Parts: sequence; C-alpha cells; structure tokens
Amino acid sequence: MTRKIADCRKYPSVSNCSLTISGEEDEVVRAATEHAVSVHEHTDSPELREQVRASLEDEKASV
Ligand SMILES: [Zn+2]
Repeated sequence: MTRKIADCRKYPSVSNCSLTISGEEDEVVRAATEHAVSVHEHTDSPELREQVRASLEDEKASV
C-alpha cells in the first residue's frame, strides 16, 4: 500500500508551517483537514477536504 503525504508547505496562503502528515489517504485527509481548521483557521467543508485530497502526494518508499 502506498501511503499519502500532505505537506503543509505546499498549501497556498500558509506560511511558516512545515508540517507533513503521512498515512492512508482517508487518514491524511481527515488529519490534514483538522489541522487546517485548528491551525490555519480554515472552515471544514467538503471543498476543503477536496482541496486536501487533491494536494496529496505518494510517499516515496526509499528503503
Ligand atoms: Zn499547517
């Protein structure tokens, strides 16, 4: 299974946040959405979740 990564540095209108979240897609979407709401004062909505999901990248399995 490929894990997904949400990298907060890639989000627009976000500065000085270097958080990355990795895990299964649904876990990352949920955690990243909660992070965006609690830290970046976004409003939880289906649109936000879609933005988060669209920004996910595959984790590179290096080892
Ligand atoms: Zn952040």
